[in-house]
Amino acid sequence: MADRILIKNAIVLSQDDAIGELPDADILIEGDKIVDVRPGISADGAEVIDAAGDIVIPGFVDTHRHTWETSIRTSAPDYTLGAYFSAILDKFAPNYRPEDVHAANLWGALECINAGITTLVDWSHIMNTAAHADAAISGLQESGIRSVFAFGFPNTSIQAWWFGMDWAGSTERIDGDLARKIRSQQLSDDRGLVTMALATRGTNFCKPEVVRYEWELAKELGVNITVHVAMDRFGYTKMQLRGLKDLDLLYPNTTYIHSSHLLDDEWQMVADSGGNVSLAPQIEMQMGHGWAPAATASKMGIPIGLSSDVATTASSDQFTQMHAVFASERARRHQETWDENLDGTIDTPNLITSRDVLRWATIDGARVAGVADWSGSITPGKKADLVIIDTQAVNVSPVIDPVGAVVCAADVSNVKTVFVNGKALKRDFKLAANLGAPRKAVEASRDYLIGTFGTPEPGWLPAKA
Ligand SMILES: [Zn+2]
Repeated sequence: MADRILIKNAIVLSQDDAIGELPDADILIEGDKIVDVRPGISADGAEVIDAAGDIVIPGFVDTHRHTWETSIRTSAPDYTLGAYFSAILDKFAPNYRPEDVHAANLWGALECINAGITTLVDWSHIMNTAAHADAAISGLQESGIRSVFAFGFPNTSIQAWWFGMDWAGSTERIDGDLARKIRSQQLSDDRGLVTMALATRGTNFCKPEVVRYEWELAKELGVNITVHVAMDRFGYTKMQLRGLKDLDLLYPNTTYIHSSHLLDDEWQMVADSGGNVSLAPQIEMQMGHGWAPAATASKMGIPIGLSSDVATTASSDQFTQMHAVFASERARRHQETWDENLDGTIDTPNLITSRDVLRWATIDGARVAGVADWSGSITPGKKADLVIIDTQAVNVSPVIDPVGAVVCAADVSNVKTVFVNGKALKRDFKLAANLGAPRKAVEASRDYLIGTFGTPEPGWLPAKA
């Protein structure tokens, strides 16, 4: 019989509508699967985890992270999006070696596990060579996390790859042969621990024939597309959805990242085509992409995932994203109400709730990542991807509303135990992985990359030889 683990007496926030929130229940895991969720399970011979009073949630899903940037964490705290393009993408990315990508992906994935993120969409636009692709995938695999490897394009020059040498759209194409090879030889299992997507640039950034090539490549490979749209006020990211519609390339299950400045008809295109959005609220507000339009997407029934985007500029856990979207979307709604009701007599209607936010960080994020059929909720039959949150901690206790405890009080320090695919990758606050060698590698990568950057930014520590 497969290994059996019984989590006893937890507050279970299942994110499965048929199961709901259970104030005192058990979860039985067999092998890689959840097999039962209810009060009073007995399972002879199972290893018992006493979770009395603790909260169990499905693992968080980070729906878009450029994990390769983990080695240059917080190098750009004050950057706007424009500054980011010219420094991170044009000065750091071309210097990345395969070992830098490996170190960053492994360290970034371990960071996720530590923070209770059990599924990571790795938006990997650092495919400078085939060896870079191998390094990215093996970094993810070694961590044990569930991930979607979103195969992207090389980042050897922003002008060539993002805008085109004449600034009228790139003529460069994703390496289709390499994508086909990875799909057939490494990532052919659509329910494996690492699955595949295509990370594309899209309309305005590329000539229409390049867009068509990349979208049709995704269709040929049978993988979802993930693409940045409507960010900042760049002319480039305006009306990208209209452009895709004109090309007849509005595919279902496409993830539209940021979406801050979509027009009304473009929102309708996302909804009608079965698309979804990935919002990175902390980054969007900090770097100037725009607001995270969660309330709009929610009203239209469009699945919302939260994402951390870049470790260069903000912290990469889902608690940060939940706080940012909860505060910003409510702040916007309050402001509208105040502006319309200057006498202050009307309370703000139609506010997003803490339960909306937790759903976006978990099951809806799983829908965006394309893994919801087998992960994202605490449901018998699904893979055991779940997190135990410590409620004894000084910042969490006492608990009254457990969703409030997770969304408004808890942080990474309260992530006690993390299961991915039935394996405890963190147990009683301690990661199963040995951190020594991966930390050394990512620090060495940082030293190399900082050394190749050119003139250091103000505030950086001196480069090590
Ligand atoms: Zn991004």
